[in-house]
Amino acid sequence: MDKRLYAKEITVETEAQTLTINWADEHTSVYGLDGLRRACPCVECAGGHAHMNQPADPAVFKEKPTRTWQVTQLIEVGNYAMQIVWGDGHDSGIYRWEYLRQLCPVENG
Ligand SMILES: [Zn+2]
Repeated sequence: MDKRLYAKEITVETEAQTLTINWADEHTSVYGLDGLRRACPCVECAGGHAHMNQPADPAVFKEKPTRTWQVTQLIEVGNYAMQIVWGDGHDSGIYRWEYLRQLCPVENG
């Protein structure tokens, strides 16, 4: 098991608009919900199949949020990803742990 890719704990704070992941290697990643939604890897948000599985781009967190988001549910997908169900019903984004870790705004400044 790669500890960098194992999420021990995930918390969503709607008021703060953040999702926090505590990884098994003791690193903590804090993601703005707006950026996380911009980084949604589903085919619809990525803009077609050709754009899927692009490398994570932490620059999404530097954009000014245009609205507030709610996360209704987090679903573990096997042991490689989590699916985010958003308050507006969008649920086709499967965020691989690898992708989330690459996206980490803390590590990528
Ligand atoms: Zn999407």
